[in-house]
Amino acid sequence: MPQREVIVIGAGIAGTSVAASLAKHYSVVVLEQESQPGYHATGRSAATWAPFYGPPVIQALTALSGPTLNTPPADFSDQQFTSPRGQMILGTTESDAAPEESTREMVQLSKAEAKAKVSLLKTELVESIWYTEGLVNIDVDLLHQAYIRQLKDNNASVACNSRVIAITRKGRNWVVSTGNETFSAPIIVNAAGAWADSIAALAGISPLGLQPKRRTAALVPYKIPAMNSWPLLFNAVEDFYCIPFGGSLLISPADESPVEPHDAWPDDIDVAVGIDRFQKLIDYEITKIDHSWAGLRTFATDGAPVVGFDNNTEGFFWLAGQGGYGIQTSAAMATLASGLIKQEFESDQEQYQHIANELTPCRFDTT
Ligand SMILES: Cc1cc2nc3c(=O)[nH]c(=O)nc-3n(C[C@H](O)[C@H](O)[C@H](O)COP(=O)(O)OP(=O)(O)OC[C@H]3O[C@@H](n4cnc5c(N)ncnc54)[C@H](O)[C@@H]3O)c2cc1C
Repeated sequence: MPQREVIVIGAGIAGTSVAASLAKHYSVVVLEQESQPGYHATGRSAATWAPFYGPPVIQALTALSGPTLNTPPADFSDQQFTSPRGQMILGTTESDAAPEESTREMVQLSKAEAKAKVSLLKTELVESIWYTEGLVNIDVDLLHQAYIRQLKDNNASVACNSRVIAITRKGRNWVVSTGNETFSAPIIVNAAGAWADSIAALAGISPLGLQPKRRTAALVPYKIPAMNSWPLLFNAVEDFYCIPFGGSLLISPADESPVEPHDAWPDDIDVAVGIDRFQKLIDYEITKIDHSWAGLRTFATDGAPVVGFDNNTEGFFWLAGQGGYGIQTSAAMATLASGLIKQEFESDQEQYQHIANELTPCRFDTT
């Protein structure tokens, strides 16, 4: 039976980024049920780094991830992962788009200024418009591949087509069986995304109530080339957004339908709702949809991720509940998780320790 120091379950952005960090210090294998890494949530995102999005702890992790994504260290990547985009928040009342204290870097735009950036905006229907250059696009595939390359450079490996079907305990080791092989290690990292509670159940650990929620995206062709430079347009009541995406326009109804973990697909109704909300605010008739998809964003009951060793079971580490922020926080989440496993942070120790206290799975412990 192959012996490792750490077994990571899940080769999405969470599992591969923490494995890349841990592989410098430990022998690591990443087990992935699908035939390729990134098949689920990681491969289905809107690919943004949005500094003012999510609760304060997410904003802190997003900020801490910024340097790695914007100016990656030479040994990680010689290419930047981000590119400029911007974000415009549209309010149909005077107050609903007004930013909170933490987002004071946003500026209010006049209708004429907004129209100069988004020529098809129906400015007669919006009462307040706020804007920031702060939101950038992330090249998710490039970033994910960089994590995979880094873990492989440090002698770790990713085993695809390796669905974990059994987890048992043998002395101080976990024994993790896939259909093909059985591995043993004292530490498991549960980075299984929507399946994180199912992995805990396999190990005999109480689930934390993580809830996958479906989110839908549809790609439509551009009518005018200038659409390629539009910022992300976000309705202040958060019921739709759109953003240029790989030569098309991505439109989402910002749905959050609770579902069981599964290979998500888009519901026609959700696609139609997104298109309808878009067309209400943008003077653009959609006659064709090039492609649509759905993915699962997984949340803990309090909306914050879960990062840390299980309180009741030795060697079982949670790295789950990244919700809609798992790409933009990946670098800091990997530093946080590997720091907790190594019991040492190389920098920003106080800040990471503070975040660790907020994200600990012990916060759900009722025993
Ligand atoms: C439409 C949409 C838009 C989004 N936009 C953004 C955005 O703009 N910015 C942002 O930061 N985030 C965004 N997100 C969220 C982001 O995609 C997720 O937070 C992130 O991808 C979660 O990564 P993960 O590695 O935890 O999960 P996943 O990528 O789902 O990886 C988990 C992996 O575990 C594997 N697995 C599960 N069970 C087993 C098992 N038994 N054995 C082996 N392997 C197993 C799965 O196959 C999967 O590959 C978006 C999500 C969606 C759906």
